[in-house]
Amino acid sequence: MRAVDIIQKKRDGHELSKAEIDFFIQGYTQGEIPDYQAAAWAMAVLLKGMSPEETTYLTLAMADSGEKLDLSGVVDIAVDKHSSGGVGDKTSIAVVPMVRACGLPVGKMSGRGLGFSGGTIDKLESIPGFRTNLSKDEFLDQLGSLGMVLSGQSLDLAPADGKLYALRDVTGTVQSIPLIASSIMSKKIASGAQAILLDVKTGNGAFMETLEEARKLANLMVSIGELSDRDVAAVLSDMNQPLGAAVGNALEMKEAIQTLQGDGPDGFTEHCLEIASHMLLLGKKADSRVQAREMAEDAIHSGSGFSYLKKLISAQGGDVTYIDQPEKLPEAPLKKVVTSDQEGTIAEVHARTVGETAVTLGAGRKKKGDAIDPAVGIMVMIKVGDRVDRGQPLFIIHARDEDTLRQAESRLLEAVKIVAGEVEPLPLFYGLVD
Ligand code: URA
Repeated sequence: MRAVDIIQKKRDGHELSKAEIDFFIQGYTQGEIPDYQAAAWAMAVLLKGMSPEETTYLTLAMADSGEKLDLSGVVDIAVDKHSSGGVGDKTSIAVVPMVRACGLPVGKMSGRGLGFSGGTIDKLESIPGFRTNLSKDEFLDQLGSLGMVLSGQSLDLAPADGKLYALRDVTGTVQSIPLIASSIMSKKIASGAQAILLDVKTGNGAFMETLEEARKLANLMVSIGELSDRDVAAVLSDMNQPLGAAVGNALEMKEAIQTLQGDGPDGFTEHCLEIASHMLLLGKKADSRVQAREMAEDAIHSGSGFSYLKKLISAQGGDVTYIDQPEKLPEAPLKKVVTSDQEGTIAEVHARTVGETAVTLGAGRKKKGDAIDPAVGIMVMIKVGDRVDRGQPLFIIHARDEDTLRQAESRLLEAVKIVAGEVEPLPLFYGLVD
């Protein structure tokens, strides 16, 4: 078999066999197929799509590209969660300790930033010393001893996704239902959780812009989960405006900390409570939505979620004083408040434009392996439906230099639409697929 024939076959719109997909994924993982062929193949998949069968073969090939964890000897049941990617989405950092504080083990493998969407691992790495590349044994040991792990892709688990994910980030090949479904589900299968909650985002700041596409992605991932004997549910959530206020790695880390202290933005706190409740139901820690919700609220109000965040940071080598004193997190040298030049109602805060602006400031990568700047980002001070006066702050830009600051300011002004009449606030959720 030759990689070039497989690329051409997909380019011409044909269905790939299991043997061809296995050959390609194994070859890429082992370094026999180079990045440029994998990039061409990913573009062909993005343009021509994949059938549900091909997507399942791809998922299993990526899950099998490294070791797979069996958690049954370590905990009775572990849940996992994964978001399909969005702007300002720091949910896992708040929700993993919340759920653990409710007595449910969580073993989670997260990703880095992808295109305009931020990544949990990049956000966590704004804490000095925090290790995200745990080995298989470290993952299992920590899950057994602490009941909670938040790791990145190690060399051992789903390494094919690790490589392909970094390649897709910088080759315009992110927005593809089969590539997203297989990326997410291969990690989830490899990391062994028996119950998985998927947060599938829809809107201009998500990879699935329409609700119809998001539902398609959710259904596909739920059925891949069923085939692998996992209990999977997916919530469909809004990503037309950034989630919470902070966009940028250290800023988001700070907001997750504040949320666990009961001081987070209302919408983001509500989002976390809902996600945590669904995880508690999936993990059979609660019998009803009402009970699950009360448990999740208690994890915030009692401070137990915050205390588990500190345990998580410390278990993975992070300097826990940064959690107690978030003002120690990296700060950008330049800050600028962008104000409204008119009064009215916010009709749009275009999430993708905000995410792309954060990347331009240095919060994301322009090419594979680029370092990111943890300090830069944007605080979004408004939500759709808010009334604003002339001179009222819309954004606070945190920048490294004058040049990127100026560019960010003009882009952010394009992201906001202000109208004269009333505008309904956007919902947080659109439904559940299970
Ligand atoms: N999250 C992932 O892990 N992979 C994707 O492709 C998109 C979001």
